[in-house]
Amino acid sequence: MGKNDDTGWSTAPFEALRASGLGPIAAFDAGSRPGFDGDKDRGEDLLTERGEVLADLQELLYANGRSGDTRSVLLVLQGMDSAGKGGIVRHVGGLVDPQGLAIKGFGKPTEEELSHDYLWRIRKALPTGGRIGIFDRSHYEDVLPVRVHNLVPESVWEKRYDEINAFEQELVDGGTTVIKCALVVSKAEQKKRLTERLERPDEYWKYNPGDIDERGYWDDYLEAYQAIFDRTDTDTAPWFLIPADSKWFSRLAVCELLIHTLQSLDLDWPPADFDVETEKKRVEALDV
Ligand code: AMP
Ligand code: MG
Repeated sequence: MGKNDDTGWSTAPFEALRASGLGPIAAFDAGSRPGFDGDKDRGEDLLTERGEVLADLQELLYANGRSGDTRSVLLVLQGMDSAGKGGIVRHVGGLVDPQGLAIKGFGKPTEEELSHDYLWRIRKALPTGGRIGIFDRSHYEDVLPVRVHNLVPESVWEKRYDEINAFEQELVDGGTTVIKCALVVSKAEQKKRLTERLERPDEYWKYNPGDIDERGYWDDYLEAYQAIFDRTDTDTAPWFLIPADSKWFSRLAVCELLIHTLQSLDLDWPPADFDVETEKKRVEALDV
């Protein structure tokens, strides 16, 4: 995509936001807008316009799924507390027909989940043919808090990067296109959002006292994120860095990445599995 007034991007987000091209996450500016030229007003208008494109593509994927196509898309969302993962689910997921989505959030593993391999609960939540899966947190938690707090020994989490690459390759081989977005919020913006959560009774539900403790491990998390990008940003299942200090920008960026992903499937409307001319005559012959 060159300079294109339809989309507002001078460089397509699929290139401009690719983790491997953006340098260390510790130096990444959460207020930046790589590849995008417009301001907030333009960005918000664009999200509405591009949301319609996304909705059409999602319907196309769903229609193919209904006709037996087994392909699907998986969007993995990661990010520090208050980075806006839930907002992406609501505001980007909310642009398409909810029937076509398979949304799953991953919290602290239950006892049952802990009694299985860490990918067990992930496999159970994968999108089936024709659907877009959205993971609010994912198997990457098993190399994030788990690594930062050594919830399993290093010898165990260390192997997970390769295991995750193999798992994602398996997904892609099975017809699931995987894209992974890390929402990057600055420390200052996180403080602002946590403050707001305590000032508004309608946001208390989002506040978790433990988030303050996790913030104390900020640099360790950055290191754990960097290891993820260094070791699991593959062409098979690429990682994108989404600057998340501006919610309008992160939503627009993820919408655009999903559009790109769906377009790359090169889908057509499935042909009728009945004789159209015969059916037209039958409908014409109906009384009233
Ligand atoms: P939330 O997304 O706000 O509902 O928070 C979910 C919490 O569960 C976060 O603190 C995550 O870090 C934590 N969590 C998710 N998956 C895991 C995991 N596999 N191991 C440990 N903690 C996890
Ligand atoms: Mg939370």
